[in-house]
Amino acid sequence: MKTLAEIYAAIPKVECRQLCSEQCSLILLGKVELDAMEKAFGGVLSHKPGCLSCPALDTFTKTCTVYDVRPFICRLFGASRKLMCPHGCKPERQMTDQEEHALLLAYNRIVGGLEPMPGMETIAEGTLGSLVGTNSKPRRTGY
Ligand code: SF4
Ligand code: SF4
Repeated sequence: MKTLAEIYAAIPKVECRQLCSEQCSLILLGKVELDAMEKAFGGVLSHKPGCLSCPALDTFTKTCTVYDVRPFICRLFGASRKLMCPHGCKPERQMTDQEEHALLLAYNRIVGGLEPMPGMETIAEGTLGSLVGTNSKPRRTGY
């Protein structure tokens, strides 16, 4: 069975030109990933009321503070054919759908289910409601 590190390593790297940060917002992740992120962050990660940014995003530099341990979904963004970078940043190679599916299965076996980032419930319902149907994919400056 693959480890999480092996699954992460199998996702093609994206040559990010750091053109945005708005995709770093509401993400789903595994508990084991959140634990690793909080260890790297040095504290609890939780959304603040009314703030849509991922709590791991440095809102000043617009970069990920836990880049080395960012979760699966953030690594997939830009690398998956279904989650291509809207600014044209390209992965080092194109992942096939079969490859992505196999990685997803292996990932699900390890994390055992996705959870929302803590604190999402503190975001005003109206704000969340306005997002429904929009293209608000999680991202990071330099996936
Ligand atoms: S890449 Fe963005 S969304 Fe993912 S953990 Fe980092 S800051 Fe959060
Ligand atoms: S790869 Fe992601 S962070 Fe980089 S420019 Fe594209 S969408 Fe923005």
